[in-house]
Amino acid sequence: MKGSAVYQLTARDIRRRNRFAVLQAVYAAAGHISRQEIAEATGLSFATVGNMIAELLDVGVLAELGYDAASVGRPRARLAVNPARGMLVGIDLAETAIHFDLFDLTMSVLRSVEIPVAPNACRPQDVVPLIVRGIHELTGDDAAEVLGVGLSVPGPVEPEGGVSVFSPYWDWHDIPLKSLLQQHLTHPLYLDNPLKTSTVAELWFGAGRDVDDLIVLTLRAGVGIGVVVDGVLYRGVTNSAGEWGHTTVVLDGRECRCGRKGCVEAYVSTPGIVATLRERDPHSALLDPDDATTLTAIAEAATRGDVVARTVIETTGRYLGVAVANLVNLFNPRTMVFGDLVANLLGDPLLTATRRVAAEHAMAAPFDAVTLQLSTLPHNPASLGAATLALEGFLADRERFGSVAARRASRTTT
Ligand SMILES: [Zn+2]
Repeated sequence: MKGSAVYQLTARDIRRRNRFAVLQAVYAAAGHISRQEIAEATGLSFATVGNMIAELLDVGVLAELGYDAASVGRPRARLAVNPARGMLVGIDLAETAIHFDLFDLTMSVLRSVEIPVAPNACRPQDVVPLIVRGIHELTGDDAAEVLGVGLSVPGPVEPEGGVSVFSPYWDWHDIPLKSLLQQHLTHPLYLDNPLKTSTVAELWFGAGRDVDDLIVLTLRAGVGIGVVVDGVLYRGVTNSAGEWGHTTVVLDGRECRCGRKGCVEAYVSTPGIVATLRERDPHSALLDPDDATTLTAIAEAATRGDVVARTVIETTGRYLGVAVANLVNLFNPRTMVFGDLVANLLGDPLLTATRRVAAEHAMAAPFDAVTLQLSTLPHNPASLGAATLALEGFLADRERFGSVAARRASRTTT
């Protein structure tokens, strides 16, 4: 019995993974694609691709746009994601603001809302009503069209129960965020932290489409990684894999907000980089109360040749380069993607400094095999990835897809 149950689970997992792969190929085509091209892009058999597409057409996720008249032989149906099938909500709960995006099913942003979080009002009982209000403002009359809501929450998250295990900014411990929100919401709800959601976004829409062994670095007020092994996001035993930001890069170094000293995050996060600037020049004209504004000023000053700004980027690249070299040695990835606020603002100069230092500290063979690159995702990766979790939840809905499979089976046997 046990073996049979395991087999069934495995078959369902494979089916779901194939469904994801087919839809990812359609997204990658960024327009329309034929069954033949999907089979080529995914490496799946034509029969499997046909089955997956039939399911996705049946539930309305895909639509046939007509036939490709130019092809030789049988005309090829052109397939595309059906934007009108439904909407998805992606939410990035960050330390000073909550960002809400409403996506259609092509993952184009339809609308966005941002709600600030006051520093003195960040208890769960303060934040939950803000999230509920934001979702209502965002979805408005379209609420019935929403297939699911994804929420990115900083710190370790227990995704099944939706418990925020620990949020370092607000000193949250074991907050049952999902059940608190479900008292006010009817949509299916998916929670994870920005390290995981950003990596899911890269898997579906970014660098992860082309490689199976990937590390996604999320560099914002907090930093960490998502590790993709053989095409699958590695979560660890308690879903806390990727807390690289709290590995040590300097013994007895700067205090980190996790309570320890010398963590990677204390040097390469937005506040860490601002601290480096402040150490160099406590009265720098580049300093602003808003860390993102300070980083923008550093980037602009560096392009003008400002020595302090360039030193700050070089220093950040030293710490980041050592920490990246450790990852290269540990994981031997094909690609490492640098994403989020710090990567967006400091971009190529930081990547160049990081690459140079990583080359000095990493072992030669794995370093030669890895490509370090900036993320090309157009949106906030945390909110896009959160919405993608909701999409995955919709696509993994056993009742919905199970009934399609059952109907198809009964059609073919009668
Ligand atoms: Zn730390």
